[in-house]
Amino acid sequence: MTSLEANIAFYDTHYDILRQWFLRPGDKVVLGDKQNRVCRFCSRKSPEVTFRKVAHAIPEALGNKSIESAYECDDCNEGFGRGIENDLGNWSKPTRTFARIRGKSGVPTLKKGGDGKGWRIEHGAAGFSITSYEDDPLYQIDEVNRRITFQLKRDPYTPVAVLKAFMKIGLTLLPDEEIGNFPHLMSWVRSTDHIRRFADQCPVIRSFQPGPMPNDLIAAFLLRRKSHVTNYPYMFLVLGYGNEVFQVQLPSEQHDLTLNGQPISILPFPTPDSPDPARYGPTRVQVLDLTGREVVKGEVIPVQVGYDLAVHKTGSNTTSKD
Ligand SMILES: [Zn+2]
Repeated sequence: MTSLEANIAFYDTHYDILRQWFLRPGDKVVLGDKQNRVCRFCSRKSPEVTFRKVAHAIPEALGNKSIESAYECDDCNEGFGRGIENDLGNWSKPTRTFARIRGKSGVPTLKKGGDGKGWRIEHGAAGFSITSYEDDPLYQIDEVNRRITFQLKRDPYTPVAVLKAFMKIGLTLLPDEEIGNFPHLMSWVRSTDHIRRFADQCPVIRSFQPGPMPNDLIAAFLLRRKSHVTNYPYMFLVLGYGNEVFQVQLPSEQHDLTLNGQPISILPFPTPDSPDPARYGPTRVQVLDLTGREVVKGEVIPVQVGYDLAVHKTGSNTTSKD
């Protein structure tokens, strides 16, 4: 059995797909009832709160223009936008740029920041334009394998806020009848106090599919444990965009009680291999710990790009385009 077959068999045996979406540009999905609006997060309704803003069920920064919800009030929308969704945006930006994910104002430009000259990676009509300086190298070129590794700095983020932002997407996508199973998660995700402990044992599984992937497709799944299964988490969100797929547990105190303190070993939700694994390599799976409570500043992450880049060196200024 290949590992993909093993993963498929694991989910066939233990989980049902409760909901799934494959969202492309032009698709329009509205969750909830626009005529009868109650905020899922704060339980308030009109006229106490307003519902004028479009509440994206998946943040727009991740490329979502298709799915919105009718049950997030403007107050909660603004709060999440300023808070945990900003952390998710900062944390995910380097890979979103290289995956050409279009947010509200196009593909994000990465720059060193501050005033004066500094490296810059920008995506425009002609592809990527990369500027760096020899006294401040941004990348290493591996000419044999035609790979470039960029050392990219992330904007500040709090890991547990990123985790909350993923779980907030899950809470938004859940059908109404499941919400009653997640009161603790709901209250924790809404809390701006990131010291408060909950979901300490929820690693995030990240699958990275190398190679050119569509930049305008979002896939989302809610996986619910089958009724006869007890020794695995009750609910998972799986969210894929660009080259990345994230699998995040949505902890339910009520349904995950028996798991308390038990080590759990699960397989990642099956993701298809990249279009040409012989050329770009197989899907890589890693487990992320996003439970850190402290702000992370100046984190440098390597991002590898394996396109056929033509690199032109001009003096101290290096520019490459795909
Ligand atoms: Zn609200």
